[in-house]
Amino acid sequence: AVLETFARSEEYHNSFLLHPDGGSEQALKHSAENGLPPIAVSGSQGKLLKLVALTMGAKRVLEVGTLGGYSTICLAQGLPEDGEVITLEISEAHAKVARENLVKAGIRNARVVVGDANESLRGLPTEEPFDLIFVDADKKSYPHYFLEAKRLVRKRGVIIIDNVVQKGRVADESFSCRPNPSKVVYPDDSSVEGVRTLLRMLKEDKEVEATTIATADEKGYDGFMYAIKL
Ligand code: SAM
Repeated sequence: AVLETFARSEEYHNSFLLHPDGGSEQALKHSAENGLPPIAVSGSQGKLLKLVALTMGAKRVLEVGTLGGYSTICLAQGLPEDGEVITLEISEAHAKVARENLVKAGIRNARVVVGDANESLRGLPTEEPFDLIFVDADKKSYPHYFLEAKRLVRKRGVIIIDNVVQKGRVADESFSCRPNPSKVVYPDDSSVEGVRTLLRMLKEDKEVEATTIATADEKGYDGFMYAIKL
């Protein structure tokens, strides 16, 4: 019932504030038809990514985790014609669907790079910094992605990281990676642990300022972390 409330509320707000364009709607449809999981950012989150890019006057954007390119399209829509999105994706199959979606959406300034982002990031030079970096891939690698994002983002640039709340699991101590018979251990605890390690790193980090904005929508309770490099 609570999920229905979240979904209804999201839909209500979106009906006033989002103006779905053919490209992003078609991208979700084409992704589903090709068997991609329904784990793209929500419409309101995608709009926020576009608004942040517009607010910053961003020209260079990096994304970690492309899937079918839905969020890539949102980000690209916030850039000027000479702007560029580089998006990293490990799955060749996802990248193929994403490239098709980008073409159909008329996006010419986004480039999908196939490979493990842990490797692809290493190959990106610090000398060509990004204005905005959106991290939305395997959560266990978040500590590494964050360090690389910090290296690659310009001063006062923005790093946004998805799924840092995970229905409250990140803050729930019963989700422990250490074997403990009295506690529930979930198969993908590494997702929880990745975010916890990131939070511990941020507590000590004097080079960034960050906050978590939790959100409730049809997919439940989750959130974006928003960080800037000082
Ligand atoms: N940002 C997308 C959107 O909102 O439309 C959703 C991304 S989806 C949640 C996560 C993606 O990250 C998947 O397509 C997955 O294949 C990719 N991924 C997982 N591990 C990866 C890795 N090590 N390197 C690059 N991509 C990875």
